[in-house]
Amino acid sequence: PTDINKLADEYLRLAYHGLRAKDKSFNAELVTDFDEGIGKVNSIPQDMGRVILNLITNAFYAVNEKKQKDVNFNPIVSVSTKKNDDHITIHVSDNGNGIPEKVKEKIFQPFFTTKPTGEGTGLGLSMSYDIVTKGHGGKLMVETTENKGTTFIIELPNATNN
Ligand code: ADP
Ligand code: MG
Repeated sequence: PTDINKLADEYLRLAYHGLRAKDKSFNAELVTDFDEGIGKVNSIPQDMGRVILNLITNAFYAVNEKKQKDVNFNPIVSVSTKKNDDHITIHVSDNGNGIPEKVKEKIFQPFFTTKPTGEGTGLGLSMSYDIVTKGHGGKLMVETTENKGTTFIIELPNATNN
């Protein structure tokens, strides 16, 4: 059983402080909304941790990229969890530039990246997709609006709790 809320909260702060260690001028608003009712979710903690960290890292990259071009932009990265009747969801959102339709078709493919060499392997989302679907019987979905931002949604079956 994994405490997903704790895992997500820790990784959000870890990624933020990692970025700020490299660039002191980088600021972002961190928003969390954790459903305490989700309890502990059956998952492989290292794997689910890797997925959440991947999504959070991508979110910070997206807002940082936008910030580089617009000093007045206020980056926001949010993570939330919610318990539903038969599944739980984890949302990771950013208010970056979104993903163009042509790019969106390819983001789950191994080695697909739009980042410069050395900054992206293109493996994060394909690995995350396999961990969530094959490893946990869940779903990994994306909602994105150009210039407005992106939300990745992890859905995990709520088979057992506590
Ligand atoms: P990498 O981060 O190494 O590029 P990923 O598999 O994590 O590889 O992501 C693949 C691509 O998906 C990224 O290069 C980027 O184009 C796009 N992408 C992923 N997350 C976001 C996001 N939050 N906002 C905008 N684009 C994204
Ligand atoms: Mg990535």
